[in-house]
Amino acid sequence: MNKYDLHSHTINSDGSLTATQLIDLAIEKEVTHLAITDHDTVNAHLQLAQLPEPYESDKISIIKGVEFSSQWNNMGVHIVGLNINIHSAAISEAVNKQTQIRLQRLSTIAHKLTKKGFPDITEGALAVAGDSQIGRPHIAQYMVQEGMVRSVGQAFTKYLGAGKVGDVSSVWPDLEQVLAWIHDAGGVAVVAHPSRYKMTRTKRRRLMADFADAGGQAIEVCTGNQVPGVAEEMAALCDTFDFHGSVGSDFHNLEYQWVKLGRYPKLPNQCRPVWELF
Ligand code: AMP
Ligand code: MN
Ligand code: MN
Ligand code: MN
Repeated sequence: MNKYDLHSHTINSDGSLTATQLIDLAIEKEVTHLAITDHDTVNAHLQLAQLPEPYESDKISIIKGVEFSSQWNNMGVHIVGLNINIHSAAISEAVNKQTQIRLQRLSTIAHKLTKKGFPDITEGALAVAGDSQIGRPHIAQYMVQEGMVRSVGQAFTKYLGAGKVGDVSSVWPDLEQVLAWIHDAGGVAVVAHPSRYKMTRTKRRRLMADFADAGGQAIEVCTGNQVPGVAEEMAALCDTFDFHGSVGSDFHNLEYQWVKLGRYPKLPNQCRPVWELF
């Protein structure tokens, strides 16, 4: 039996496992097809390509993926690219651009936090991130470390989450740019966790329409920690816009008990699975 998980993170972005640790865990969970989709980096795939031993076997296939940050109507929207050519010029350009944006965004967030009376978090957050693609979770972790907040959760609810000072979305490229990168790399573009954005149903349909107009082919119908009924609602959007459906846990680490690798609600029968497009 095939078991797909088409959205997961490693330590190369804001996950905590290395690529090989993640693959070992996936095999343990009987995942047969795993897409590694770090935020704005493909370093996990580049590292895997350097291994002396093959990391794929009859137990597991690894799908090359990425999760790009984009903006739509001044809101951050994540677009997963699946089955991409990680050595393409488009992906190199995309990763370089997104890395620069992330560094600039860090300064912007740091500046906004100083206005709230905090010391400059730039260097500290970079140190937490180390070689990983810098993200808000690293900033949150540093804020906890320095006693600015009690927990990562509190850092997001008070300062970094949707609508707060540290939520800077205007820096990201638009949908058209991100889809061009994915398509130029031979990949399939997928709207990540569509139900998780804070928007009305009407607005979500407008996002879907714009994504379809830009050549988008799929959305995540099933993600980790998803409440009952959402998969059916997303499947209905697939019907309307002729999208394929993707599935993925959005696994980051073993500490988030509510998200397990390989675990998400069942893909509704009417949905054409995204892997038909690979
Ligand atoms: P960034 O990619 O830097 O914009 O950071 C977004 C990431 O922060 C998401 O991919 C999640 O992994 C994480 N995140 C978002 N909201 C929360 C939250 N409330 N608590 C903990 N982590 C969060
Ligand atoms: Mn993340
Ligand atoms: Mn995401
Ligand atoms: Mn993700």
